[in-house]
Amino acid sequence: MNDKNKPNLLSVDEALDILLRAAEPVQAIEEVLTMDALGRVLAAPVISPIAVPPHDNSAMDGYAVRSADLHPQEVTRMQVSQRIAAGSVGSPLQPQTAARIFTGAPIPAGADAVVMQEEAQQKDDVVAIMRAASAGENIRRAGEDIAVGATILNDGTRLGPQHIGLAASVGMARLPVYRKLRIATFFTGDELAMPGEALAPGQIYNSNRFTLNSLLRTMDFEPIDLGTVPDSLEATVGVLKQAAQDADVIITSGGVSVGEEDYVKAAVAQLGKIDLWRIAMKPGKPLAFGRIENAAFIGLPGNPVSVFVTFCIFARPFLLRSQGVMQVAPRSYWVEANFDWLKPDRRREYLRARLEPGMEGMSRAALFPHQGSGVLTSTVWGDGLINCPAGTPIKRGERVRFIPFAELLACH
Ligand code: AMP
Ligand code: MG
Repeated sequence: MNDKNKPNLLSVDEALDILLRAAEPVQAIEEVLTMDALGRVLAAPVISPIAVPPHDNSAMDGYAVRSADLHPQEVTRMQVSQRIAAGSVGSPLQPQTAARIFTGAPIPAGADAVVMQEEAQQKDDVVAIMRAASAGENIRRAGEDIAVGATILNDGTRLGPQHIGLAASVGMARLPVYRKLRIATFFTGDELAMPGEALAPGQIYNSNRFTLNSLLRTMDFEPIDLGTVPDSLEATVGVLKQAAQDADVIITSGGVSVGEEDYVKAAVAQLGKIDLWRIAMKPGKPLAFGRIENAAFIGLPGNPVSVFVTFCIFARPFLLRSQGVMQVAPRSYWVEANFDWLKPDRRREYLRARLEPGMEGMSRAALFPHQGSGVLTSTVWGDGLINCPAGTPIKRGERVRFIPFAELLACH
């Protein structure tokens, strides 16, 4: 591609790189109850103070024995000298006897194997054991899952249900997490009305307000919703001043093109600094990034699909990194294209697509027919984005890169 044809266009990767370098992770730490830590980001590694399991225990319902006491080929008859249920502790095993034992119960001292009950027959207090056992059989060793002092969760992990369960399994009642990132949003445009109001001529509903605030909630940030702001420099400066006081990051939609009614750039420039980027990406060419005092500023485009996509591709990793998360890139997967895309744009495209079952269990991606940046129905019909490299035609049957929405709306 000829450079003259794309003056000042930043690639998606360049823009992301600048954003991630500029992200300043929040420093303040708070302790929360482990039960309340879902979605929060761990501020220190979790080191296990105990072994898990804490003691050697039986993996089966059966009989704990000394393996050397069993005849190698014949049935062995033994006295059942004790009974150990989970939650109780037995006494050392007398030679030539067996202990009736249940799953999870501690192995008594002296025993080195458990014979499962299906391979034994008990009558009164004598058990006939049908076969030999080898040392260690059916015993879960202390520390087999987690050793004392092992790091079980790393700093910068966003806590999902599995992480919460693991922390609880080593006895953690509280966890240190980073303070929630505060994110102010506001929406520019004199054409915007709120759901519940009747639309006057020329008006549209402010859907971006709902999309963006909901995206922020999926990531457990603290949204500060400042609503709709009229298209005037004065109003925009006023709300920006307030937002910079209250928030770590300010995100807006609309008003960052270079139209006469686009005041966001001028207002941010008056209070701080701003770069207006033109990114080699479709949807979502214009993106603004700047700073007002301690608050970072991200200006997303106004078109509803552009808001959704640019949030997912740029704002999400920036916000997660600012929240202290280490792993911020969404994973993507190869799937087979069930479409032709023969006239690619010179910018990278993120197409809304849906996975459907293909040949031999492979997933195939189908495209929503209307890929316009205002067509929100594409985001509901689809279940992910296809990342189409700039200027590269795609033929049916070729492999394409698919990012499931599930990767973008949840975090790992
Ligand atoms: P702008 O960047 O302000 O020129 O907006 C680009 C397009 O997105 C225009 O068609 C706007 O009407 C539309 N738009 C801007 N803000 C919103 C919003 N909050 N909700 C829905 N559409 C919007
Ligand atoms: Mg506008």
